[in-house]
Amino acid sequence: MTFCMRRVGAVLFVVALVTASMVAPGPWVLDASARQVDVWSRIPTTDPVVFITIDDGFRPTPEAARQLEMLGWPIVNFLVSGALGRNTEYFEQLTPWVLFGTHTRHHRQLINLSYDEQREDICGGVDDTERITGVRPVWFRPPGGDFNDDTLRAAGSCGIRALLMWRATVNGTTVRTWGGPLKRGDIILLHYRKDLAESLRALQRELTAAGLYPAQLDHYLRFPGLPRSTRAISSGEDECTTMWWPPLVGYPYC
Ligand SMILES: [Zn+2]
Repeated sequence: MTFCMRRVGAVLFVVALVTASMVAPGPWVLDASARQVDVWSRIPTTDPVVFITIDDGFRPTPEAARQLEMLGWPIVNFLVSGALGRNTEYFEQLTPWVLFGTHTRHHRQLINLSYDEQREDICGGVDDTERITGVRPVWFRPPGGDFNDDTLRAAGSCGIRALLMWRATVNGTTVRTWGGPLKRGDIILLHYRKDLAESLRALQRELTAAGLYPAQLDHYLRFPGLPRSTRAISSGEDECTTMWWPPLVGYPYC
């Protein structure tokens, strides 16, 4: 069965779990207009779409790979260099529309580092990701979501165009949001942990109940002079994939 065929699946509506609005330190949107690197925790859009991101890469499981293949969602991976290097084959097997940002080389808390140290860690992650995947990433997520002005300047100097935060997380089967229930344009954070497959299934239930669909980030967050697609590691360069949005249509994206 092809991915295209899988896209035309039945949509089941289930009762949504209540995702309480939290007042907590966490995701936010900065007015970054004067900076080199914009910061996003959601992408303004009227389409009923969300953006799925998965971090770290230290504990990828076969079950998660099977779940990702079955779902066929567009994903942006924010992997630490060492995790990507150690698990290259694993990430190669994922669907061809899984894209890559970077999550630094060493996964250190950047706000405790000097500008030069931050730059080394961020540029190192960019360089490593380009060397392994063949594509230089333009998206960045700081470890722990902690960053300061030096982080933005350093990331900009490494060629990063956007710092991606999040407005919702999934841990186990718990979907947590900031500022109200899941809504259009939200960036959602998961991790390559042993329970990722379970988290993906929980998220699928939430999205189905909310009438939201995963979409490819580079269709909505584009930069002048850059190609739309930042492809996955090796396979799929000549393949067309199928979009999740609009739903149940399945048009090719090359
Ligand atoms: Zn991390």
